[in-house]
Amino acid sequence: MYLADYHIHTRYSFDGVERIEDICNKAIELGMDEIALTDHMDIFSNKPYGDVLDCRQLYNEIDQMKEKFEGRLTIRKGIELGQPQANPVEAKQFLQDYTLDFVIGSIHNIRDDVDVYEYDFKKLDCNKVYEDYIEALIELAMNYDFDVVGHLTYPLRYMFQREGVRLNLDPYEDRFRKLFKIVIQRGKGIEVNTSGLLQSMNETMPSLSVIKLYKECGGEVITIGSDAHRIEHLSTTIRQGQDLIREAGFEYITTFEERKPIFKKI
Ligand SMILES: [Zn+2]
Ligand SMILES: [Zn+2]
Repeated sequence: MYLADYHIHTRYSFDGVERIEDICNKAIELGMDEIALTDHMDIFSNKPYGDVLDCRQLYNEIDQMKEKFEGRLTIRKGIELGQPQANPVEAKQFLQDYTLDFVIGSIHNIRDDVDVYEYDFKKLDCNKVYEDYIEALIELAMNYDFDVVGHLTYPLRYMFQREGVRLNLDPYEDRFRKLFKIVIQRGKGIEVNTSGLLQSMNETMPSLSVIKLYKECGGEVITIGSDAHRIEHLSTTIRQGQDLIREAGFEYITTFEERKPIFKKI
């Protein structure tokens, strides 16, 4: 079984704390064959990308670690690119300036540079928030550069954690089909983000039914990531994620080198 954790944050992310070397050692201890380091590059309407993340330092350090861990752990240079539509020029410039292996396209901020994390769901219609969220995902999938769409059900985490709401996704089937059609036509994929397995919602983002729908639509490109910001959360849920996608009918996970997908049997 090939084990790859394709969503990890280091201390370079605004919300990360861990040294890359510590992450690599821990990943080896946990039996990982490969990791992708995907720090946050959230795009804001009015901020140069260089003010969000120290990319030069980050990628220099990854280069050093690649050498250090050669033959023991495959390390990929990635990014979690948040809402490129907030400032398409900055997003494009960043991707031109750095040669990466892997890009997660995520939506954290639906509009006005405000993270869904900051929403007060008591005062909001959860269905309306999710409608807006999936529309933003569709726009991202249609018009921007990425390899997989990240955590498709991100707002559900906070709806559940704060209000105990488990949003029924059945009414969104058509929207998911539209999203998957675009993703598949462009040769892109989705990620299964396993961080929710360690949180009160106790499910992956997206959950099994949506992963099955992606498969049914013809989806093949799929990555699994722990989205760990702390070493104790690193990679521990990757095996569960693989079991889940196997249940959905997948026989391969996807890894990336210089933005090209490589399929590994699970
Ligand atoms: Zn994210
Ligand atoms: Zn993340």
